[in-house]
Amino acid sequence: MSDLRKIVQGTLLENEPMSRHTSYGIGGPANAYITPKDRLDLSKILKFANQHSIKTYFVGSGSNLLVADSGIDGLVLTPAKALNQLKFDGEMVSVESGVMLGRFVKECMKRNLSGVESLIGVPGTLGGALVMNAGAFGSEISKCFKSVEIMNMVGDINTYYEGDIDFAYRYSSIHEDEFVLLAQFKLISESSDFIQTKRDNASQSRKTNQPLKFRSAGSVFKNPKENAAGYLIDQAGLKGTRVGDAEISEHHANFFVNLGHAKSTDITALIRLARKNVFEKFGIKLELEVKTIGFDSKELEAYEA
Ligand SMILES: Cc1cc2nc3c(=O)[nH]c(=O)nc-3n(C[C@H](O)[C@H](O)[C@H](O)COP(=O)(O)OP(=O)(O)OC[C@H]3O[C@@H](n4cnc5c(N)ncnc54)[C@H](O)[C@@H]3O)c2cc1C
Repeated sequence: MSDLRKIVQGTLLENEPMSRHTSYGIGGPANAYITPKDRLDLSKILKFANQHSIKTYFVGSGSNLLVADSGIDGLVLTPAKALNQLKFDGEMVSVESGVMLGRFVKECMKRNLSGVESLIGVPGTLGGALVMNAGAFGSEISKCFKSVEIMNMVGDINTYYEGDIDFAYRYSSIHEDEFVLLAQFKLISESSDFIQTKRDNASQSRKTNQPLKFRSAGSVFKNPKENAAGYLIDQAGLKGTRVGDAEISEHHANFFVNLGHAKSTDITALIRLARKNVFEKFGIKLELEVKTIGFDSKELEAYEA
């Protein structure tokens, strides 16, 4: 760690509890939680980690992340605060990965640019939104995507354009060893009334349908093609089920909430329970939407693969 400390120009927090960096408020310590100062700093850290075979994870604001109570044996790198620029050129916008999605949406709305207003209220950074292909109320961030700059584990920067990256429902083909630096989007000029109405509908629907009083990571499972995951979990009779301080929300059964002091093992017990009961009742295998770090696959599975 002392060799790494000599390299890092940004901030390095040793043994940093990931519960401070996830919307669940859950997760044990990472060996080091690093916010690089700039691209040069990031490239040096990535090269160091690569040369020394140190496992490295990229994290935005942890709003789609479940980290094990045992923590992360490796480095966590985050762009938050360091890569924070947003530049408009007509209908084109370049956004660095540490920009919060909410800020991006508001800046587009100010300029009467449409395309991302339905994403209002989705927490997280631009980097996380692109990797996850964040979406809401019929809109997905990939719909306005033009290009992305990434840095790989040897510190090289590559640019991918439309067509180079596959996007699907809560999926992008951006590799887990590619750090998103910046993305470009093309929006569409629209009347402010049109944009405001779409934004308001999305915001109202989120407030009505989601348990926003408690900490969560949003939807735990992707919606299978047959039906919404929340409906299936509800029909399996699991709404309101509690393990420790974690609960399958009464409000929305695909949200598992932390009532205060939930452990990752409480959430994983609910994940297995939901998978098992939905499979037994409907024959449908639920696929995780939340990303997980630090678990054995058996902790998350409810049936033989
Ligand atoms: C209350 C609530 C409501 C939500 N509603 C929605 C919703 O309506 N729609 C929706 O799509 N999601 C929703 N989410 C989930 C979450 O907000 C999104 O998935 C969000 O885009 C994640 O962004 P993040 O920065 O927090 O990413 P993280 O959770 O930190 O990471 C998510 C993934 O992105 C990768 N990643 C993050 N940053 C980078 C980077 N710079 N380079 C490379 N990889 C990176 C991580 O490795 C991980 O695989 C909700 C979550 C909550 C808590």
